[in-house]
Amino acid sequence: MSAARLPSVDRLLRSPACAPLQQRYGREALLKTLRDLLDELREPARHGQLAAVELTDAVLAGRAGERLAVAHSSRVRRVFNLTGTVLHTNLGRALLPDEAVEAITLAARYPLNLEFDLATGKRGDRDDLITGLIRELTGAEAVTVVNNNAAAVLLALNSLGARKEGVISRGELIEIGGAFRIPDIMARAGVKLVEVGTTNRTHAKDYEAVVNSRTGLLMRVHTSNYSVQGFTASVPTAQLAAIAHAHGVPLLEDLGSGTLVDLTRWGLPKEPTVQEALRDGADIVTFSGDKLLGGPQAGLILGNKELIGRIKKNPLKRALRVDKLTLAALEAVLGLYRDPERLAERLTTLRLLSRPQAEIRALAERLAPVLAAQLGATWRVSAEAALGMIGSGAQPVARLPSAALCLRPQQPRRLRGRALRQLEENLRTLPIPVIGRLDDDALWLDLRQLDDEPAFLAQLPRLSGVIE
Ligand SMILES: *Cc1c(COP(=O)(O)O)cnc(C)c1O
Repeated sequence: MSAARLPSVDRLLRSPACAPLQQRYGREALLKTLRDLLDELREPARHGQLAAVELTDAVLAGRAGERLAVAHSSRVRRVFNLTGTVLHTNLGRALLPDEAVEAITLAARYPLNLEFDLATGKRGDRDDLITGLIRELTGAEAVTVVNNNAAAVLLALNSLGARKEGVISRGELIEIGGAFRIPDIMARAGVKLVEVGTTNRTHAKDYEAVVNSRTGLLMRVHTSNYSVQGFTASVPTAQLAAIAHAHGVPLLEDLGSGTLVDLTRWGLPKEPTVQEALRDGADIVTFSGDKLLGGPQAGLILGNKELIGRIKKNPLKRALRVDKLTLAALEAVLGLYRDPERLAERLTTLRLLSRPQAEIRALAERLAPVLAAQLGATWRVSAEAALGMIGSGAQPVARLPSAALCLRPQQPRRLRGRALRQLEENLRTLPIPVIGRLDDDALWLDLRQLDDEPAFLAQLPRLSGVIE
């Protein structure tokens, strides 16, 4: 092998082969990458370990281009969520409808009346941007919005119950993902936790027995991510509100998912609505923006005007407030609720949740042979019935009848585990990563959320050749 000489970094930088890279990534990034590359090649070149062809401008530019592409690729990546869980917290929960995306773009690009009253020319309040809609849709007197529902609960508790006692049933002392535990949040909010009843049964008399002059509030938490079944009893919101009001304290209800519409209308399981909680007498209701509401990440606090006023005056509100993009998206999403007839067409989350099983099944049957051809004889691909879920704690035991592509390895038994993990990884490393679910010695791709069939199909050819 003839000993090859390294080009100088300056000449390489100015070479025609590197021109497109400079155009794309800038001179500085290109120069650094070329330097690193040449530094690494110096030793092997000196020992004559490199052939001349390995050091041509074209080859070196190619290698630099690969490195730059990796280094400059976005960490935020679109994926296909084929897990069967629609509101998947790790995959970004609710998908925003076009109306909200457009509102975000507008708010991002131009100045706006975020805290400016266009009618009077005076300083305004950012919550006013959605107050009218919330009032119209829910009947609530007032509303304030913070970063997420965890913040909403913290803020409401701290504003209304600090240095006082907060009464809650033992059946509702929940933990939801990400270390959000009601007892811890109460402690952080400065509210002294008073537990009543038992895990499975709590009665009105349990609350009556502990309410006293130190009580600051009664709290009810929707047990969103688990279900207590069998010998159970809980006090309905209306009765709990009556107890609270008889003692002059507010009832705070954390709905978790919180929806503004009766989901049974679309064949989905019954989830308590915000309107019902308010009608039953809850003084403050909190819920997430990006769960069943189908909007941006946010925590909505609504209810009694005087109490919302106290919450808004809390300095913590300033620390937890939402930005203009969130408010723009939220207003757009709430606007869709004005027309419930068309909601399932226009609100992405609801459209996906209510997608008929027959339609998903037809899609699975259409795609199964395509994927089978791509994967070859070592895999059996079939369209199967599957059960998905809403996710994010909404109706943890309810299942959404769906359909999936079931990919089953046909290798000898001892090789199947490895083959499955390999396929899972190959799908996960596609340009648009495909995230499925491993279960029962097969990889399942639940197609309820496959919206973009062409994009899914377009990248399948990349799978062949990498699958044994
Ligand atoms: C999801 C949930 C929360 C937290 O809401 P985030 O918007 O995720 O912060 C709080 N309480 C209940 C009951 C929930 O289900």
